[in-house]
Amino acid sequence: MDAVRYFSYAERTLALLVQIRWPNGVTCPMCGSKRVSFISTRRLWKCGQRHDRRQFSIKVGSIFEDSPLPLDKWLVAMWLIINCKNGISSYEVARDLKVTQQTAWFMLHRIRKAMQRGSFEKMGGAGPVEADETMIGGLARFMHKDRKALKIKGTGGVGKELVVGLLDRETGKVRVAHIKDRKKKTLQDHVRANVGEGAHLFTDELASYTVVSPNWWKSYKSDTTVERFY
Ligand SMILES: [Zn+2]
Repeated sequence: MDAVRYFSYAERTLALLVQIRWPNGVTCPMCGSKRVSFISTRRLWKCGQRHDRRQFSIKVGSIFEDSPLPLDKWLVAMWLIINCKNGISSYEVARDLKVTQQTAWFMLHRIRKAMQRGSFEKMGGAGPVEADETMIGGLARFMHKDRKALKIKGTGGVGKELVVGLLDRETGKVRVAHIKDRKKKTLQDHVRANVGEGAHLFTDELASYTVVSPNWWKSYKSDTTVERFY
């Protein structure tokens, strides 16, 4: 209750999130510039550099971006994760935050990933992102594509792990994660959790990333493009 009350002040919540996300000062998620001005009436910043989408909120380019949930709910969820020594289930979070269990699960997943990475930032703010998945622990790399698809259905075969790598071409940052399968939904969720809205995504597996869910692409701005890179 204390946490809920504490975070119910929008100004306080925003100030805290700014501190966590940009400890060295507010930075434009599009170009990385620190020359930004705050529009307090709208709780938005405006970048001083010339480029598209100069106005941004705390959500843009962060793990909160594609969620309509208010920030205080995110913060209470974080507070719960950090303060519950024995871990917290999505059912408890759902009850405390008055959201569905599915929503609570989504929040916990995003927050835990961000804590592992030590960052709320998504990739692709300043430049394109390349995505590719491969098998580790076998010769999947050299398999014919169709055979590979067949082999790594489900768990990925005995002794082999399926990993997906994301490269931010502008910053050179790479994120590699283990994923349970290469189903459309799994890949889609992974990209959504890690790549910012409007980013250019390059991949050699066009189908896996797009056919997935037209809704995801619809929810993205029209300047989102997926291109075949290889
Ligand atoms: Zn900028």
